[in-house]
Amino acid sequence: MTNSPSNGPSNGPSSRPISRPAKHLTEHLTRRRVIILVCLLLVTASAIPLIRQLTGPPATSSSPWTLAVCDIGQGDGMFLNLSPHTAIAVDTGPDPAKEDTCARRLDITDVPLAILTHFHADHVDGLSGLLQGRRVGQIETTTVDDPPAGAAQVNRLAAAAGIPVVRVRPDEQRALGDLTWRVLWPQAEHPLQASAAMGDGGGSMAEDGPAENSGPNDDSIVMAVTVNVRGAPFHILLTGDIETPVQQSLLQDRRQYLKADVLKVPHHGSAKQDPDFLAAVAPSLSVISVGQGNPYGHPNPKTVYLAGADGARVYRTDLDGMVLISAPATPDAAIPVQADRGDGTVPTAPPSSGATSRGHHGGGRSRRHRYSSLPSLMSARFSARRATYSFADPA
Ligand SMILES: [Zn+2]
Repeated sequence: MTNSPSNGPSNGPSSRPISRPAKHLTEHLTRRRVIILVCLLLVTASAIPLIRQLTGPPATSSSPWTLAVCDIGQGDGMFLNLSPHTAIAVDTGPDPAKEDTCARRLDITDVPLAILTHFHADHVDGLSGLLQGRRVGQIETTTVDDPPAGAAQVNRLAAAAGIPVVRVRPDEQRALGDLTWRVLWPQAEHPLQASAAMGDGGGSMAEDGPAENSGPNDDSIVMAVTVNVRGAPFHILLTGDIETPVQQSLLQDRRQYLKADVLKVPHHGSAKQDPDFLAAVAPSLSVISVGQGNPYGHPNPKTVYLAGADGARVYRTDLDGMVLISAPATPDAAIPVQADRGDGTVPTAPPSSGATSRGHHGGGRSRRHRYSSLPSLMSARFSARRATYSFADPA
């Protein structure tokens, strides 16, 4: 490497004598440079939290989260973690921008499998956002193309991106990474499938407001997911939008697979729930994916209460934002959970007593209900900047 002339102290322009006005000018310019530099530093420093907000908390990309329930509005958009940057998508919400934002926050670039539980817009319309700059290996759908427009859109996007679309098979069992899962619904040649294909799910329309069609809801893929990490199986039940008829069918034919540590409450917490189904799942944590001010009245207060019966903690994406759940460190340890702006609640009284608002905020006290709210993602972000944040189980 050769020295440039400016590297020599005696050769550069600065070695020349400086006249007084020129010296003032130089000092002025130097002061200006310092001021500009300070301003740039201040702007850069103030931009760091903004950048972190846009790109997501550092804790999420380096932490062993297992299930992410996106703050996706009125719909479902979730990810099951496989490894850094790689996850299974389960539904994509109603909004491509929100789906893309959630995947970016989680730093997901590879999606070997995207499962679309059914073809309602609030579960599939965000698909183009998932496909934005990500590798998606396969799309798996339910067995009934209802509503047809939703199915056609999914097939069109998949064909344009060269992604194979496969139908879920009844009782299918699959494994990817540390995850295994069993498909509990749809079942083969079940009478409900025929009625679902006719658009007649048998549910009441009045409870959930306008534009609610129960047929496609009861087509939803239901997955009993087992996370095989840290020496203890951790169970998650993902339920799409199934309503009372399918819940009762599962109680009858698949009850042995329903018990789970974490329940994604069916159908955004609608009123169409069988209390015995929720009791059979008996989760420690329930998550309701629901949009603020939705026209359907979701979640129903009674469903929120049932989802938190017997001390289970209930998270709602409309109130808590994105929810990250991690498999616990040991079989009896608390389940680490983080949320954007809340820490869920444990409903303390049935809605008939007037206590339909949020319940208490204590941690799980019984052995069965084992959850532990970590600092919210917002505070985790600040802690991470101090390099003190840990996703370790605090219990
Ligand atoms: Zn839905």
